[in-house]
Amino acid sequence: MSDTPLEPENTQGDLTQFEREERSGPTADTFRSLHELIDYVSGKSLLQLPQEDSGLAEPLPFPFLAIVGQREMKLALMLGLVNPNLGGILLIGPRGTAKTTAVRSLLDLLPQVERSTCHYGCLPEDVETGGIAAICPDCARKYAAGEPLTTSDRARLVELPLNSRLEDVVGGINERAAVEHERMRIRRGILAQADRNLLYIDEVNMLADEIVDAILDAAAQGLYTVRRGPVSATYRARFLLIGSMNPEEGHLRPQILDRFGLRVIVQGLEKQTERLEAYRRVQAYQANPRQMIAQFADEIEAASEEIQAARQRLREVTIPDNVAKPAIKLVQKMGIDSLRAEITWFEAARAHAAADGGTEVTSEDLKTVAPMALRLRRSPFMTEYIHNQQGEEEELDSLLKTLGKKSRKKNSSALQK
Ligand SMILES: [Zn+2]
Repeated sequence: MSDTPLEPENTQGDLTQFEREERSGPTADTFRSLHELIDYVSGKSLLQLPQEDSGLAEPLPFPFLAIVGQREMKLALMLGLVNPNLGGILLIGPRGTAKTTAVRSLLDLLPQVERSTCHYGCLPEDVETGGIAAICPDCARKYAAGEPLTTSDRARLVELPLNSRLEDVVGGINERAAVEHERMRIRRGILAQADRNLLYIDEVNMLADEIVDAILDAAAQGLYTVRRGPVSATYRARFLLIGSMNPEEGHLRPQILDRFGLRVIVQGLEKQTERLEAYRRVQAYQANPRQMIAQFADEIEAASEEIQAARQRLREVTIPDNVAKPAIKLVQKMGIDSLRAEITWFEAARAHAAADGGTEVTSEDLKTVAPMALRLRRSPFMTEYIHNQQGEEEELDSLLKTLGKKSRKKNSSALQK
């Protein structure tokens, strides 16, 4: 990677001038909420800077906040960073709608997480739940001495390669360790590596069913167990799952669709001004990624701090009964059976309230996140199934009436036939 330093006269200097001349609205540190920040940045027009090829070989992520439009996608991803327990995010849309770009650009916004420094992944909470025997001897010694078992680290983005095998995903026998130590060891899979991180699956609808099932099970439980012959290992897998799919390239089983918390329909930009701005930004980024990143640096830092603060606040955010009950009624009215509907809806609304600086979920929070939490939940199959079933029940009921009252004799004679 090139170490070309930023040219102060081309970037920071211009940025200050830009702020002076172009900005009439709030500055990066005066946004009241993530919403305002997203709105402001989506409409921010680019500086006309001299474009020169920086010759970078390693791609830098496109700045998240530089993506034009796509408010719902950006909001869903932000909410996921605030509350990883909202059950995953599925981005549905055709090619070329910035789905993968948006996910990769989250790199700049990823929060700090506490990570175990031990190979076995020992954590202080293991001691709280399972006692000192629940951690390895080395960590037990550290724990007793009052030394930390974890270190603060930035969450990472783990991408699942499309050709992954089940063994890559969950882990398998470490052949080399098995030969060298005459003991079988299980190698950590991608799911274990994704613990406390983001796991991105592009084209999730193209993945084998057994792999999707393994990932969704691990995501739901926060851990998973691998058994290979006599050895087994349990790993933590608390991650935010983000999937993307192009419906033109294949369906996703309805039961899998239901297991994703938020579903975002990503469409191409409609307004001509937006499309033009998107084109300009992509062009500017390709010509000089560092310069482009520098133009959004202030806002990205502000957003990153807001996300971190919202994560802290999330624990205190509650949903009052008088807000929750009408919402559950609405879910029932829509004919949605899956309990995941309201779980996801409420968790997303809590994240929204936290990002907005609140400690109590309001109907407004619920309204904003409702489409992503509730769409594509109704199962046409189940509706039809239940409808047909009811018809059958009624038919059976009326036919049974024709049997008359002295049915015992008729029934028994029918059985003998
Ligand atoms: Zn340990």
